[in-house]
Amino acid sequence: MGLAVATGCGVLRLRSSVTGASSFFVNKRQSELKIMPDFCPKMLAEEPTPNHLVNCQECGLYEQGTRMVWGEGNPRGPIMIILDNPGAREDREGESFVCGTRQTLQEVANEAGLKIDDLYVTFILKRKPVRAYDKELVRQICMRHLEQQLTEKKPTLILCLGNVAVQSFFQNPEAEVKSMRSSWHDIRGFQTAVAYHPLAVRRRPNLRNLFLEDLTFVADHFHSLNL
Ligand code: SF4
Repeated sequence: MGLAVATGCGVLRLRSSVTGASSFFVNKRQSELKIMPDFCPKMLAEEPTPNHLVNCQECGLYEQGTRMVWGEGNPRGPIMIILDNPGAREDREGESFVCGTRQTLQEVANEAGLKIDDLYVTFILKRKPVRAYDKELVRQICMRHLEQQLTEKKPTLILCLGNVAVQSFFQNPEAEVKSMRSSWHDIRGFQTAVAYHPLAVRRRPNLRNLFLEDLTFVADHFHSLNL
């Protein structure tokens, strides 16, 4: 009997133990197979950077050569998710791909009962740093753009992911996800929850349940608002 391997997005690959050949499996009895959830992380639409900021050089990070990413997802989504900075978005050939951070975030958000269309993802820094930089100064400067986004978008809820984003957004260098999760915090007038960074969750699978708990915490509250 062949070995069924889940490959994601509900597609199954069957490797025959006799021939070693691979083929896509289409008609095996479901009870014999491991089926992945009917959800596939996708490339979310990127929100264009406002024209007057496309060439922003305010903090000097532009010298590192990475491009600006203003945000992605639904620009009017009621839940704003804040990460420290954009991750890898294109491979060496320039092809777009969904990085591990975004895969884990979307998968667990879906599992928690959040609709992807309710989410808008943005960053403390709008460029990905690739070399050492003056972290404090650069974060302070780029936070002005996030403040502008908050003023314009007025999200219903905010979810801040990872210690770096939490410390910057809460303006508290001692802030830690570990001791602040599972509560709402009033930050800059917004109801804000925190959770681990999806990349940390990928590296330490024991954090996945906590991540799911935290996203469920947000989803339950959001649904209770009956918007
Ligand atoms: S990281 Fe922020 S402040 Fe720095 S150049 Fe980019 S947009 Fe401007």
